[in-house]
Amino acid sequence: MTTALIPYIASCPVGCSTALVATELQLPEGALRRCAACGQLLSAASESRYWETMVSFNAPDFNQPAPRELERRRKVAGRRLQTTARLLGKPPAEIRLIDIGCSRGQFVEFATRAGFAAEGVEPAPDIAAAARASGLNVHSGLLQEQHYVDAAFDAASLFEVVEHLREPLPLLRECRRILKPGGTLIISTGNAASWTVGAMGARWDYFHIEKDGGHISFFNPQSITALAHNAGFGVEHIETSRVKFHEKGEVSSALYTAGKIAAELLNLPAQLAGRGHDMLAYLRRR
Ligand SMILES: [Zn+2]
Repeated sequence: MTTALIPYIASCPVGCSTALVATELQLPEGALRRCAACGQLLSAASESRYWETMVSFNAPDFNQPAPRELERRRKVAGRRLQTTARLLGKPPAEIRLIDIGCSRGQFVEFATRAGFAAEGVEPAPDIAAAARASGLNVHSGLLQEQHYVDAAFDAASLFEVVEHLREPLPLLRECRRILKPGGTLIISTGNAASWTVGAMGARWDYFHIEKDGGHISFFNPQSITALAHNAGFGVEHIETSRVKFHEKGEVSSALYTAGKIAAELLNLPAQLAGRGHDMLAYLRRR
């Protein structure tokens, strides 16, 4: 078993030439490092550990939400689709959209039902096959393996993908290539410059490669902006939401409940300050 660090982590994956510095955020595999220019945080996990934790994404029971969670995702997807149509200034029927890393294709399904010409691409082979079996237009493999023609799409999405990538820039440049000029790219990921990280530090589950399989690269509004610019995108807007102070089971249930109430009260201020731990960026191809 190799203990070598994931190779790209010698430099900032967003494209800064500034050195990485150690942080006080101590994880089992070593401290997170920070790009001194953009604040991107990088895991010290070994490459073998990274691949071990990614296996879960192809498990037969992976990503099968309960009805209540599915309803929540439907609402979230609806808002994202509405914003996409508004930014493009086109009705859904005229929008060809691709969801990259689409898992079981829930967003593809929501988009299709909303009238978009939607498809997805997913590297976990069994999950992609399950999406196709349910009638969705989902391709197996990486985006780069699909060989789409230039400017094939109006919109693309990367939901909870970039935090898994050793090298996000080549993927974003491929997104740019397959998008029409003025096309939109939506990215969702965690916000490492959040009040949650301020309060919880390394206790935040999102940092733990065991708990959130394969998370190795942690963005913030500044680093996602740098990534966008380096890949040829402008930033339309970035929004953040939600704060927490404890993970479940970490403290007594009374303290956990008190923390949840405080977090609810801070949700709106966190949104206004850009300090929530869920981040959503709407980019536009230049
Ligand atoms: Zn950087």
